[in-house]
Amino acid sequence: MSMALSQSEAPRPQARPPMLELRELVKHYPAVGGEPVRAVDGVSLEVAAGEVVALYGPSGSGKTTLLLMIAMLLAPSAGSVLLGGQDVSQLSEREASAFRLSELGFIRQSFDLLPGVSTIDNAVLKLLKSVRWREAQRQVTPLLERLGLGARLHHRAETLSMGERQRVMIARALSTNPRLLLADEPTGSLDTHRSREVLELLRELCLERGVAVLLVSHDPMAAVYADRVLELRDGVLSDCEPTWGAPPSAPLSASDPTQTGIVGPP
Ligand code: ADP
Ligand code: MG
Repeated sequence: MSMALSQSEAPRPQARPPMLELRELVKHYPAVGGEPVRAVDGVSLEVAAGEVVALYGPSGSGKTTLLLMIAMLLAPSAGSVLLGGQDVSQLSEREASAFRLSELGFIRQSFDLLPGVSTIDNAVLKLLKSVRWREAQRQVTPLLERLGLGARLHHRAETLSMGERQRVMIARALSTNPRLLLADEPTGSLDTHRSREVLELLRELCLERGVAVLLVSHDPMAAVYADRVLELRDGVLSDCEPTWGAPPSAPLSASDPTQTGIVGPP
């Protein structure tokens, strides 16, 4: 007779920690002569490899602050950030920057494309820290092609459309094969059609590569492409009311001059 253990008695395989875990994360900014701003106020969250989580919240709700803490660019007031089970407060500055370089892709709110520099050379900027230029170009080309930029490889950044600029930023963020991707308002300067395109590509590429994705946005469209949607309001996280489905009918405005994606003098 078999001596097989029942399910409950069998020793459980050690569960892999989530790629990203936030425990009661807090950031309070001091205010001159007033109450401190409670930008992030006790956020707990897990994101697994291959999972796309959208964090929806209005402007000022603490989205960027949260991502900066995860990227170890801003110190929390309290709570902890764990990456692959490791508390990042235990990392040395050197380990933190190595993680940022190779394991993290961060699409910042205002993209930083170099003017006068081609699509491909803008895309390799992160890879160049570890790989020679020609090799970096070779590695990033298929990614740019996947992102629909194959015919734009040698076009200067300022001649690209907003959607194309955002796709260059995606290529740069994914160029090092990160395990975690943070995206801050990735559709902030795109119209509805381009938003869909960018989000679809982002989701597809990250699922293929098993990347854990945390995407923050005030664009309801972002939620359509996520496995899970949470709402951030005044720094506090809650499950989101499923009010999505229908994308906004009017194209989103691209009027914010800080969102051109080109930095520095033209
Ligand atoms: P979001 O990205 O959702 O627009 P932010 O994280 O940028 O939100 O900001 C959250 C809150 O924290 C806002 O009230 C904002 O004014 C405040 N805040 C952001 N950065 C700072 C800072 N460096 N010093 C003081 N207050 C800040
Ligand atoms: Mg922001």
